[in-house]
Amino acid sequence: MNYSSKSLEDLVQAFAKLPGIGVKSAQRMALHLLEANREESEYLARAILALKDNVHACRICFNLTEEETCSICSNHRRDHGIICVVEEPKDLMAIEKTGGYSGVYHVLGGTLSPLDGVGEGDLHIKELLERIDAETKEVILATNATVEGEMTAAHLAAMVKGKTAHVSRIARGIPFGGALEFNDAVTVAKALEGRVDI
Ligand code: ZN
Repeated sequence: MNYSSKSLEDLVQAFAKLPGIGVKSAQRMALHLLEANREESEYLARAILALKDNVHACRICFNLTEEETCSICSNHRRDHGIICVVEEPKDLMAIEKTGGYSGVYHVLGGTLSPLDGVGEGDLHIKELLERIDAETKEVILATNATVEGEMTAAHLAAMVKGKTAHVSRIARGIPFGGALEFNDAVTVAKALEGRVDI
């Protein structure tokens, strides 16, 4: 698209680089800011810079925080004996949103992916193994149900077993509200494999 203003074009391009934002939305956002008062743009610019300046990884679990340890690690009401291992902070957020988990987390920072050159040393695996002690009752492997996620879970299970009494993997299968006939064969097979007594 040919814009009559270089500044407008730059902002549209910057927005369009963000995940989930197409050129059309980027243009709408930029034009909105142009119309809105200056404070709105200042607030946005400050919020972006504050994010970059203040947010870093928790010393214990690698969740995002502005303190030395995150609000979950420093919460004494959480069960520190249960560690749920996830790939990224967004996965932790998804579990927190359910309100049904009271343990703590460990964010790996990705998955093992030999083809992309991601090995054990590139993830927070060493730190996970160091965290597991006599107080640890369970390690829940909650990596995604992708090829890399499954491989990472299997690899971690082998390393964690023997260090703690209980290692579990989150269930895979039919999504809530989903009909069997509309799921692919692998999903249906996994659902059957992961069946539980009722
Ligand atoms: Zn933490």
